[in-house]
Amino acid sequence: MSDLRELYQTVILDHNRSPRNFGPLPQANRSADGYNPLCGDRIRVMLDVEDDVVQDLRFEGSGCAISTASASLMTQAVKGKSLSDVLKLFDGFHEMVTADATNDVDASHLGKLAVFAGVREFPMRVKCATLAWHTLKNAIDDAGAVAKTE
Ligand code: ZN
Repeated sequence: MSDLRELYQTVILDHNRSPRNFGPLPQANRSADGYNPLCGDRIRVMLDVEDDVVQDLRFEGSGCAISTASASLMTQAVKGKSLSDVLKLFDGFHEMVTADATNDVDASHLGKLAVFAGVREFPMRVKCATLAWHTLKNAIDDAGAVAKTE
């Protein structure tokens, strides 16, 4: 288990150090801002959606390692997916990080996103890990409101 933990740490540190899909997206047709007041994480998620498929997405902002790595891994997981698949992924991710920490969760369908299963044990960190996802969902809904982790 400690090896697994180390691997997860490595993935999170790597994505924090060099976040993927980071920067502006001029052709974005949907976007939303998110803020996690508990930690101070801020994020903007921008999407280019054509025919209900996420053709491209990028994010900007600044936050802790968990929030940045989560946003980075999210963009990789979501790119090229249909909006309905993205929302399914959102539900799966949300379920994983909010599940009772004493129960095992099956996160095999979440691929690399499974590295965040460990945040369940740290309720403060759950907000960091889910911020990008809530912001993404708002961008898809095009609510135009600032995503809150509460
Ligand atoms: Zn944070």
